[in-house]
Amino acid sequence: MTTQAINDPAALQDTIRETVIDHQLRQLKMPGALRHYRDLTRQARAAGEDVLTYLEAVLSVEMESRRQNQVAQRLRDAHFPFPRDLETFDFQAAPSLNRKTILDLAACRFVAEREGVILVGPSGTGKTHLGIALGRAAIHSGYRTRFTTAAILMNELLAAAADHTLARYLRNWARMDLVIVDEIGYVPFSQEGARLLFQFFSELSERRSILVTTNLEFSRWVDIFGDAGMTAALLDRLAYRAHIVVTQGESYRLRHAQARQVAQQGRQAAAEGN
Ligand code: ADP
Ligand code: MG
Repeated sequence: MTTQAINDPAALQDTIRETVIDHQLRQLKMPGALRHYRDLTRQARAAGEDVLTYLEAVLSVEMESRRQNQVAQRLRDAHFPFPRDLETFDFQAAPSLNRKTILDLAACRFVAEREGVILVGPSGTGKTHLGIALGRAAIHSGYRTRFTTAAILMNELLAAAADHTLARYLRNWARMDLVIVDEIGYVPFSQEGARLLFQFFSELSERRSILVTTNLEFSRWVDIFGDAGMTAALLDRLAYRAHIVVTQGESYRLRHAQARQVAQQGRQAAAEGN
């Protein structure tokens, strides 16, 4: 307590009430209000604000702080392998992509409409980058999102089936608004794995938005799913009302490696010239 507070009865009163208010806001779990109400009180008093304006300001900082905490929590729960967003996506390096289409997707109407997204193209063309960027955009728009890879998903499905916990496992996924399954096509599935994956997609695709990425042209999906009939049914489910985005072109990774290589060669040539 400051000396000023001890000598000034009004300041002392304030300090005592703030101690009570701090305690109440902690009990009520209102960290935003707790952090800001003193400043807001000072400003309100200085500006002679009416009480409703003040109350609204305190509640607004609390609402905003909750929204931010929710976004942070959902970003953690999404299990993105690394952070990527559209600001760092170089559209010039991906000429096959229509920038407007991607920006429209990032507005996340497809999640509200329960539509799917399929990103298809060779390795290193930005599919995972775009998948993460769209997933993060969905979280910022207030949706629950979860990222996984086809290989991890298949292992978890097999484990859940073996433990008789498949129903619970699928229910957890059904809590998401947007489900992202990366890298379909890198690992072939066992017959049981393919069947479970099919069940996963059929149960979720009706009620949730699904984004998948694949390096395989659709004509080759049968190679990893095995069964032609099931593959066709799966594609029907996934591609029905889906936005299909083709990320063709030379691999971005490769191109950067090539750029480095060319730069290196250039530096070498320059050094030899000296
Ligand atoms: P894919 O999933 O298609 O194999 P990635 O999304 O993993 O490709 O891309 C490989 C790396 O290159 C990642 O680090 C990604 O962020 C980066 N990358 C790919 N395309 C672009 C792009 N157009 N602009 C910026 N970075 C890109
Ligand atoms: Mg990838």
